Amino acid sequence: MTAQLIDGKLIAQQIRDEVASQVAKRAVAGKPGPTLATVLVGDRVDSATYVASKQKACAELGMGSISQNLPGDISQEELEKIIKSLNDDKSVHGILVQMPLPAHLNEERVLQLVSIEKDVDGFSPINIGRLAQKGREPLFVPCTPFGSIYLLEKSGVQIEGANAVVLGRSNIVGMPAALLLIGRNATVTVCHSRTRNLPDVIRQADILIAAIGKTEFVRGDWIKPGAAVIDVGINSKPDAAKKSGYRLVGDVNFDEAKEVAGFITPVPGGVGPMTIAMLMRNTLRAAELQDR
Ligand code: NAP
Repeated sequence: MTAQLIDGKLIAQQIRDEVASQVAKRAVAGKPGPTLATVLVGDRVDSATYVASKQKACAELGMGSISQNLPGDISQEELEKIIKSLNDDKSVHGILVQMPLPAHLNEERVLQLVSIEKDVDGFSPINIGRLAQKGREPLFVPCTPFGSIYLLEKSGVQIEGANAVVLGRSNIVGMPAALLLIGRNATVTVCHSRTRNLPDVIRQADILIAAIGKTEFVRGDWIKPGAAVIDVGINSKPDAAKKSGYRLVGDVNFDEAKEVAGFITPVPGGVGPMTIAMLMRNTLRAAELQDR
């Protein structure tokens, strides 16, 4: 193995410890505990699990959380009323609307409504717009791409001037990851399902961020020797040796890539733990911004 393993679990724990210590200092200073409101619409099991783990993290770090668990047939108007009341509620510092919403709801209108000071997921068009503009600063950056870039920086990977390839262009991962890399002076290529000669494009990458949701799609011989590989993908792969019958793997063939790359994140234990750590960091920041 040539690659240095990037330990996302350890780095995420360091962030969580820092946040917990800041939260404790706020309490001593008599400032309100950062509080996250989660909005869950419908009964998707995966969404409910994500929301529960975000609330658990709040409790572990001494932060507050309130939950709005809403029926899957809620109207757009009712949902918007709830978001507005959370915007107005001074005891709530961050608002997280768990995606995806049921198909009858207009996701864009909901995200637009979340106050930018409470937009701890960083999905408000104003925060994303600022991320895309030179010389502007968003109040919050989406947690998964923010965590991915943090892992590169923490590992000492040089971003400035690097050729970076982002595989995937979703609103929640690929596109903001590309914008963050551009902001750090990388030269960025964004690939997607219509990209031609994908292996050749990826072979140019000093930094690869893979976020497509395709099991072990990127092969070892697509990786430039010494490249830094951040694997965002979470896919389940049948595995008879596991009690559950499956195991989690990324979008990169880890066993092959680790023999070529300079740095690599494992799945699980790479980007995954960073997402919640960054959400906690953003929620603390929201409380600090609202102190002013
Ligand atoms: P998504 O919204 O489904 O977007 C997938 C992107 O991949 C699209 O841009 C799509 O291209 C591109 N794509 C799909 N198949 C491709 C192919 N064969 N070749 C090249 N590009 C292809 O996915 P997402 O929400 O960004 O999530 C991506 C992965 O990250 C998933 O495995 C998800 O579970 C994982 N994830 C992990 C975390 C975490 O905390 N670690 C958080 C979020 C997501 P088009 O635009 O052309 O359709």
